[in-house]
Amino acid sequence: MEQGPVLTGGRRLLRRLRDIMAGSGVAQERLDQTVKLIAADMVAEVCSAYIMRAGEVIELFATEGLRREAVHRTRLRVGEGLVGAIAATARPLALADAQSHPDFAYRPETGEEIYHSLMGVPILRGGRVLGVLVVQNRTLRNYTEDEVEALQTIAMVLAELVASGDLVGPGELASADGNAVLPLRLDGIRLNAGLACGTAVLHEPRIVIHQVVAEDTDLELERLAKGVDEMQSAIDAMLEAKDIADGGEHRDILETYRMFAADRGWLTRIREAVRSGLTAEAAVQRVRDDNRTRMNQISDPYLRERLLDLEDLANRLLQHVAGKAPTTAADLPDEMVLIARSMGPAELLDYDRRRLKGLILEEGSPTAHVAIVARALDIPVIGRVKDILAKVEAGDIVVADGDNAQVFIRPGDDILQAIEANLQMRRARKETYAAIRSAPAETVDGIRIALYLNAGLQLDLPHLDDTGAEGIGLYRTEIPFMVRDRFPDVDEQADIYRRILDQAADRPVTFRTLDIGGDKVLPYLPEAEEENPAMGWRAIRIALDRPAMLRQQLRALLRAAAGRRLRVMFPMVAEVAEFVAAREVLGVEVRRAEARCLPLPAEMRIGVMLEVPALLWQLGSLLPEVDFVSVGSNDLMQFLFACDRGNPNLAGRYDPLSPAMLSLLAELVRQCDRHKVPLSLCGEMAGSPLEAMALLGIGFRNLSMAPASFGPVKAMVRSLQLAPLEQFLAMHIGAPDHSLRSKMSGFAHDHGVVI
Ligand code: PEP
Ligand code: MG
Repeated sequence: MEQGPVLTGGRRLLRRLRDIMAGSGVAQERLDQTVKLIAADMVAEVCSAYIMRAGEVIELFATEGLRREAVHRTRLRVGEGLVGAIAATARPLALADAQSHPDFAYRPETGEEIYHSLMGVPILRGGRVLGVLVVQNRTLRNYTEDEVEALQTIAMVLAELVASGDLVGPGELASADGNAVLPLRLDGIRLNAGLACGTAVLHEPRIVIHQVVAEDTDLELERLAKGVDEMQSAIDAMLEAKDIADGGEHRDILETYRMFAADRGWLTRIREAVRSGLTAEAAVQRVRDDNRTRMNQISDPYLRERLLDLEDLANRLLQHVAGKAPTTAADLPDEMVLIARSMGPAELLDYDRRRLKGLILEEGSPTAHVAIVARALDIPVIGRVKDILAKVEAGDIVVADGDNAQVFIRPGDDILQAIEANLQMRRARKETYAAIRSAPAETVDGIRIALYLNAGLQLDLPHLDDTGAEGIGLYRTEIPFMVRDRFPDVDEQADIYRRILDQAADRPVTFRTLDIGGDKVLPYLPEAEEENPAMGWRAIRIALDRPAMLRQQLRALLRAAAGRRLRVMFPMVAEVAEFVAAREVLGVEVRRAEARCLPLPAEMRIGVMLEVPALLWQLGSLLPEVDFVSVGSNDLMQFLFACDRGNPNLAGRYDPLSPAMLSLLAELVRQCDRHKVPLSLCGEMAGSPLEAMALLGIGFRNLSMAPASFGPVKAMVRSLQLAPLEQFLAMHIGAPDHSLRSKMSGFAHDHGVVI
């Protein structure tokens, strides 16, 4: 195969580097020879290696071109000067005129004032910065991307020298890494509530690359090709696995993944890296690290998700190439807490759900796909836990406390005992919930309450049987859209809805049409820049402005529900006219199906979500139009109190148990009763036993909640005597209090209600 001069030149340099590394002499001498070689090869007047020391300091260890006396004297804090900036950001920097850069910090002892251009790259190993490698030129030189890449490759070789512990002792390296054996508590953000204790499993077991420079490039290309083949076969096998072949979102996720695994651009870049002289493992790692750097610079959620998938694949490929098959179920502990920098939803689904007790991520946001899937699996998830991967070792005992967004690593006996007691209490509670599974959701005074589940993935459906729920009170159709990489067409959508209806069997499912916008971002739809996205172009507003999207969705729903019952509701409606217009779009689709003699649903109910307060003053004209109303208390609260539901500074500031919210809901109950329109509530309020109790007290008889809330709410219902609560609430609802919470708790306590 023909190769260009850059390629063969790069390979020659790598060979010479390898010879230096393998040669005799102490580590410092080898480092000195290395910087000399690089300076000559890259036609740079200066080449310097800076190494990370304990205390976040970076020290000049070797130089060709700067003053010798500066070696081991020049030290910079991480973040200080250009070298410190490279260490802090772990990103390369190439500047033709370095001295005019705002981060430039002049060190007189080095004599570097005469050098104008600078190119520096981090010396990375396992994602950690071990040092910085820099070249400098006297003239204004524009370093090319190829040159930056070449220097990154050399830095990989140097990383092995630093990691050997001969330059800086292993003890100091470890402390610079922040590793500790002491118990630790780390904070993050709550992505899903719950508590779990288990053995830490690192999602990407660190593959330590022992050989960076190839002995035989053709052999490395063969090893790479074999690894790629194995990885692709493993993904095919995953797709054929029984529970995935049956369909559902896992399949769609993995199909996308399979597509990426064959991405020509990605594979070509890895092959190029091998041709430049690296081993197959080192090449995969190089391309992965490049992607990581790019990811940090990209805010577009679609591109970020794609890069995350590629990162994920790179890790798999690395394991196949290194001959270390990805961890199989047999190697995993029975009770595991999974720890990852970030991960794709498909990867999470790879783990045995029975063993997976919790998930901790260094990155992650509440809308990340992996968080959505983890919620359906009902495990605690904590995100944005800084540096967790540097601080935990596989096999450590880890506690994931999703309720308080905390992680305990190697907890002491006192913490473990407290956690164990708490877990036991939760287990006992779960058992009582399971015991009342088949018992009716009926109050002590014989009032029947209809309890439903909220769902959004097929994974949620088995909870119908586990809980004994009456059906799905809110199916958030945007969630299956959010875990895909492109807009599902009518056939695909119909397939999703049909599967949901099949699994629900004769239990009703209320499909809410797409509620996108606000915090619900579809990675493939361009995000509009909005000052106030929650009050912006979202849900029904998008649907009415882009009727084709709504029509496709309604067509898919009609098709999926042919011969069955179809319940549809429209989100974020602010005026009756919007509801009427959306219903008319459904009418168009019904007439279209009739004209084509397509089978239609046996029965249709069309409802509205009450989330925007304006609708409360249109009930007289709204209620005669709708088949049912469902209160979205999350949005209703935020608009009623002008209080962003996602702002942590405002969390808890206003209370759903406030006289304002309860009075408004009580009036809604009266009006719906008068118009004989079924009413339910499907926001978070329905899932908390105390709030649910108050809702029953003001007349709600129909609630829909997340699966994890079902047991606690049902236990509350079965311990409640409704008549005294109604009287109690009637007495207090007009109080000038901030909240009726303490009065409600008092009532529950005095009347033996299980809260
Ligand atoms: C709500 O607003 O209460 C609701 C159920 O909708 P979502 O939480 O999906 O916005
Ligand atoms: Mg809402």
